[in-house]
Amino acid sequence: MNIIADLHTHTIASEHAYSTINENAQAAYDAGLTYLATTDHSALPTGGASLYFFSNLTNIPRTLYGVKILRGIEANIINDRGMVDLHPRYMKSIDWVVASFHDFAFPPPVFEYDLEKAKDIITDALLGVIRDPRVHVIGHVGDKRYPFHVDTVMKAISKSGKLVEINANSVNSRPGSEESCFEIASACIAYDVGMTVSSDAHHSSRIGEFSHSIDILERVGAKESHVVNSSVERLEEWFQEHGIAPDLLS
Ligand SMILES: [Zn+2]
Ligand SMILES: [Zn+2]
Repeated sequence: MNIIADLHTHTIASEHAYSTINENAQAAYDAGLTYLATTDHSALPTGGASLYFFSNLTNIPRTLYGVKILRGIEANIINDRGMVDLHPRYMKSIDWVVASFHDFAFPPPVFEYDLEKAKDIITDALLGVIRDPRVHVIGHVGDKRYPFHVDTVMKAISKSGKLVEINANSVNSRPGSEESCFEIASACIAYDVGMTVSSDAHHSSRIGEFSHSIDILERVGAKESHVVNSSVERLEEWFQEHGIAPDLLS
């Protein structure tokens, strides 16, 4: 499967990432990508860029090294109602929103003694995120520390037209997530939910590194039509339908 856009990447603005936007764009060019979404962590509560950083994102040129740049953010899901820490002050400057669970913003529920209860909590949070019109894609959904009722969530995502990310970095940074990534990718196919493949790179050398995600997708029998960033036409059609970065479209 060919992937033409890396839709979840970090720069030094995320504090725990190590490359600049220029280095990432150069790496995206070297990897033959058409699009790069730069999605630093949001401002709250730690490890992210400032409000001012996101309000000022329009300073990043629309293309760098011939790669089209989406100005994005990785927002935190912060409670069991699915609130995300997006601030109205910068929404006009942002094209692309990934929303994810992170333990510093939403401690994983302790579910050793009651898995169903934990699934109820995370399902409620995800249903809240799905209702938020500002969010485009739910990031690293396969994190096994955040279990949920897959059928309930997939039905809701399918109706919303939002996307589910198959995160290539999960195998490294969220150990044990492979099994739930399989389950989720299979459910996306069954419920006709669009997927994205992303590197979640925290260093430029990882930009365009999708092999773990592609392996999962091939093993569940996903076709290119299930993955929005598998062709420029498919991705731009999705952008057009959702009013994303009209000045970038071919
Ligand atoms: Zn993340
Ligand atoms: Zn990330």
